[in-house]
Amino acid sequence: LEEDDAFDFLFKIILIGDTNVGKTCVVHSFKSGVFLERQQNTIGVDFTVRTLDIDGKRVKMQVWDTAGQERFRTITQGYYRSAHGAMITYDLTRPSTFESLSHWIQEVEQYGAASIVVIFIGNKCDLESERQVLFEDACTLAEQRGALAALETSAKMDHNIEEAFILMAKELIVRS
Ligand code: GDP
Ligand code: MG
Repeated sequence: LEEDDAFDFLFKIILIGDTNVGKTCVVHSFKSGVFLERQQNTIGVDFTVRTLDIDGKRVKMQVWDTAGQERFRTITQGYYRSAHGAMITYDLTRPSTFESLSHWIQEVEQYGAASIVVIFIGNKCDLESERQVLFEDACTLAEQRGALAALETSAKMDHNIEEAFILMAKELIVRS
């Protein structure tokens, strides 16, 4: 499509974080606004593209999802290469996935560009009654580790997903 070819900015964004935190659902919700009830791990998945209009600029967001490699923490270096932004995702009902953030930050620091912008995504905020991770703890960690922000989302309710990507896009525009 002609309109999809024209853009002012192109940013590569990677989704990382433990398995089952909802990364694939977050990407799907960003793309279509629709919750993907059952997600199968697909081999060889590459990326999803959506162009945002930000202050009259066409910002093409190329969003990369892992194809299940994160289960074995065997994400290849190439996945991080040339990424402008990383959404490091956890499940706010599972503390172990929050504790894993430090592992994923380390990966980003090791394999990503020095200028990479990081946002923490606490997903599944629709499950408030099962919450095990405080939002303020995520904010504190974000500040400590130099992340741009911590946000809570629900891929299921399509809550705060677009906002997270817009926040990322705006920061990348400012820095470019
Ligand atoms: P991934 O392994 O990180 O890619 O996780 P998936 O996207 O495959 O999602 C893992 C599970 O969490 C699936 O059963 C989804 O239906 C569920 N899930 C994903 N996002 C949400 C959410 O925002 N709320 C709720 N309640 N469940 C979610
Ligand atoms: Mg997945």
